Amino acid sequence: MTTILIIEDEGDVREILSDLLSVENFNVLEAENGSIGCQLARDFQPDLILCDIMMPELDGYGVFATLRDNPETATIPFIFLSAKADRIDFRIGMDLGADDYLTKPFTRDELLAAISTRLKKHLSLQQHYTVQLQQTEQNYKSQLQQAAKQRQYLLYHDNLTDLPNQLALREKFDRIVANLGKISDRTSKKPVFVPVCYLDLDRFARVNEELGYEVGDRCLRMTVDRIRECMGNPAILARIGGDEFALLLEPVESKPIAEQRAASIVEHLAPPISIDDREVVLTASIGVSFYPRDSRQLDTLLNQSKQAMRQAQQQGGNQAKCYSVALSVGSPDRLALETDLRYALERAEFALHYQPQVDLATGEIVGAEALLRWHHPTRGAVSPARFVPIAEENGSIVEIGEWVLKTACQQNLEWQQMGLRPIGMAVNLSGRQFDRPDLCRRLKQLLGALDFAPRDLELELTETILVCNPEFSVRVLQELRALGASIAIDDFGTGYSSLGYLQQFPFDVLKIDRCFVCGLDRNPKNAAIANALIDMAHQMGLTAVAEGVETAEELAFLRQHHCDRIQGYLFSRPLPASEFAALLKQDRRLELR
Ligand code: C2E
Ligand code: MG
Ligand code: MG
Repeated sequence: MTTILIIEDEGDVREILSDLLSVENFNVLEAENGSIGCQLARDFQPDLILCDIMMPELDGYGVFATLRDNPETATIPFIFLSAKADRIDFRIGMDLGADDYLTKPFTRDELLAAISTRLKKHLSLQQHYTVQLQQTEQNYKSQLQQAAKQRQYLLYHDNLTDLPNQLALREKFDRIVANLGKISDRTSKKPVFVPVCYLDLDRFARVNEELGYEVGDRCLRMTVDRIRECMGNPAILARIGGDEFALLLEPVESKPIAEQRAASIVEHLAPPISIDDREVVLTASIGVSFYPRDSRQLDTLLNQSKQAMRQAQQQGGNQAKCYSVALSVGSPDRLALETDLRYALERAEFALHYQPQVDLATGEIVGAEALLRWHHPTRGAVSPARFVPIAEENGSIVEIGEWVLKTACQQNLEWQQMGLRPIGMAVNLSGRQFDRPDLCRRLKQLLGALDFAPRDLELELTETILVCNPEFSVRVLQELRALGASIAIDDFGTGYSSLGYLQQFPFDVLKIDRCFVCGLDRNPKNAAIANALIDMAHQMGLTAVAEGVETAEELAFLRQHHCDRIQGYLFSRPLPASEFAALLKQDRRLELR
């Protein structure tokens, strides 16, 4: 029932109003002065107040002001009643914020109309506010839900690639493993393995260093797209940091199936990525371990696949490799080797051996390739194939490489001072050295200090070093050539081997990798490749050098196909400086029959 409070000092008027409203089914409260009126309004919270203006003690304006100050009563509809038909009274009342103003005498209909209008308006306002309140509450709730969702998403996703992160990977792994239990319970014929892969982009740090992090990030996103394209749906890809990803492939029944899948991902990633009119070559290496064969723990499995991945990278990258216990046996050893490597230079454990390069037209020694040797105090000779990748990885190759350059140039000068015939000196440069922005400056300084003729220096680089950032490589190669040094592409055919790429690099010598030279007189495939490489080198105006020539038959084939120079055990192994000097002194030549 609607309650109306009448505040009126004149008893007659109050009574008439009260009767009239009671008949209309209102619940009526009466107050004979302003103070009581305020009290009743506070205590009963009526739905509407009718209030006289002219009252002793607290007049109508005072009542209104008091009620508006109190939040409990501030919104109660308020109608002034006055005998004064004075415009000023009316103004004051309305300015104060009253809802309506009735001038006495008023008819019953006027009163009821005013009351009903006020009540309706108030009701609709109330409804409006309730709806608004509900909406605000709703909004707030959905905002909270959204925030919770967002938090959940961030918790489980990597924000650069939107891929699940390690935490999500863990949960997915647990789920797959639990399902696997069910599958093998049902079929239980053959054991099933979950391949856990660790994928790392080879030499990705260079992309960030040379092209900036923004391009690096874009490369990562594009790589993710490519991995997704070829991975198949049920497999799971997660980013576990930097350029490292974990993949859970579909359960398999045998190792080669998973190895094949990993290899196809590697293959899919190999073509260059186009970014802002430039091509970036980003190859990847993948290591694979198997649940539950290698371990039941995800952490251990990831560690194992990471080890396998490192091994793949040490062997040149761009390949997939499965974990085997043999790898983990090698690993503490590797750590020890890495520690020893840090001291090898200051302990003078390095030496250079020199392998002759022979001109096939004359049979004369025309050059030497300086090859690094490490005489470890307890292990004896450690192969560069083993320690150079470690030195590459930890960066010590830069300092070691400088020592190699300096020692090789000094040695060459020493031979000349001994009166021996001048020959070229080939030195291998590592990717890390090539990437150094001060490479040319330091080389110039070194050659200047030694007074070494740059034309006698040949720098050997592999394709993989060059193709990562072709524009940068072309610039550095041009600078190196401007110094007067010549450039050889080493191990050609084992890396990216793109002719399109090759043409843009200014170099002078193409070294055909040993694997194509080996048995080329018997192996038609190798013969065809070697032949094509020699032709291509000549068309590009390059000198063709065959590496690893071991037999007379190989030599015969290479001569017949106009290879320019050879290097290999057939003529000589890499030799200590004194033995090499002896060869030069004797003017040992390759027998050309
Ligand atoms: P590489 O530059 O391709 O060097 C040629 C490798 O083939 C040398 O192995 C050499 O001993 C070997 N070799 C030469 N003739 C024959 C042959 O007829 N048959 C066979 N089977 N092998 C032959 P080495 O000395 O073990 O060096 C391995 C690799 O280590 C080098 O390959 C090069 O990539 C790297 N390396 C060596 N010295 C340095 C260096 O000073 N700096 C850098 N960055 N890398 C180096
Ligand atoms: Mg070489
Ligand atoms: Mg080589």
